[in-house]
Amino acid sequence: MRTLRPDPAISKRMAGIKQKGTAIETAVATVLRELHLHYRKNVKGLPGSPDFANRSTRWAVFVNGCFWHHHTGCAKASIPKSNAEFWVAKFQDNRRRDANAIRRLRRRGYCVVVVWECHENRIHAKLSKILKRSSVNR
Ligand SMILES: [Zn+2]
Repeated sequence: MRTLRPDPAISKRMAGIKQKGTAIETAVATVLRELHLHYRKNVKGLPGSPDFANRSTRWAVFVNGCFWHHHTGCAKASIPKSNAEFWVAKFQDNRRRDANAIRRLRRRGYCVVVVWECHENRIHAKLSKILKRSSVNR
């Protein structure tokens, strides 16, 4: 099953979808700055390499593309008809990796927030959770 590969046309289309993720990342960065939450981007030293994180105040944000991370119940989380088997396995891997990273971060006392690509209008509410959490610890 692991040897299956998507055909080049689909890969190209998917690469296009992945690019869109950057718009939501920019929006998240803007809101973090508005909330005066200092962050580092793509923190490789933490489980799952969070898109945004702060080690000293222990929070991490993952910005998930709905397609790649297979957002449950989301219209953008479709399974391509061609090579469906490959994609199902790939999405399962991605989701398992995501869940594992979140679990490991929470075990270390991190406040973990996942922002889905389709939740553009909920970014502020989602990130405000970090402020509530850190005010408790202060
Ligand atoms: Zn979604």
